[in-house]
Amino acid sequence: MKDSGFQIEHCRSNCPKSARNWQNLNELLTKNLTALNLHQSIADKFSPVLHHHIPKICLAGCPNGCSHPNIKDFGISGYVTPLITEVPCIGCNECVRSCLEKAITWNPSGIVIDPDRCLSCGDCQHVCPSGTLTEGETGWTLRSGGRVGRHPQFAKPAGQVQTDEEVLTWISDTIHRYIENGKTQERLTHFLEREQTLV
Ligand code: SF4
Ligand code: SF4
Ligand code: SF4
Repeated sequence: MKDSGFQIEHCRSNCPKSARNWQNLNELLTKNLTALNLHQSIADKFSPVLHHHIPKICLAGCPNGCSHPNIKDFGISGYVTPLITEVPCIGCNECVRSCLEKAITWNPSGIVIDPDRCLSCGDCQHVCPSGTLTEGETGWTLRSGGRVGRHPQFAKPAGQVQTDEEVLTWISDTIHRYIENGKTQERLTHFLEREQTLV
């Protein structure tokens, strides 16, 4: 994939915890970024092309981030928020037990979810037997500028979007800005860091 001018890592297939279908996004990104002929554009700008010029993208199906989106140039994690419906709660407490963040409490009038604790992972929505809890808004959490090496750092939050196309636009626009505005031999990760300080 390096010869295509980008690299994509992702979750294992068929993980039951996936909050969002990363396979579709993987296909969309691969097809469209390949068509952009990024390797040639990067070579024209930065020759010789070194590993740190190549955009590294990571897709994770849920906030657990097993594929390490926090240490890539572009980290994308799926989310699905819990939605409390009108269907009466039967008080089974399955959702309370399922939530690793301890974001859900139950009382005789139903459940309450603490939005400051909730990571929108989807676990509680999978276990509710009554339909009281179901899937709400779903989308992608974006991060950029993560890296390992001599000066490692975690990627920083770059917002949330709902559609796969918005992820593609975010990544391709950022790469184009890097090719256009990057300094001589500037590493992508340093360009992203510079951009973040301008926001
Ligand atoms: S990040 Fe989530 S969806 Fe991906 S492998 Fe880990 S638990 Fe499964
Ligand atoms: S979506 Fe995840 S973090 Fe949020 S309340 Fe449900 S189980 Fe807890
Ligand atoms: S899992 Fe559903 S039915 Fe059970 S306590 Fe939670 S909201 Fe109520």
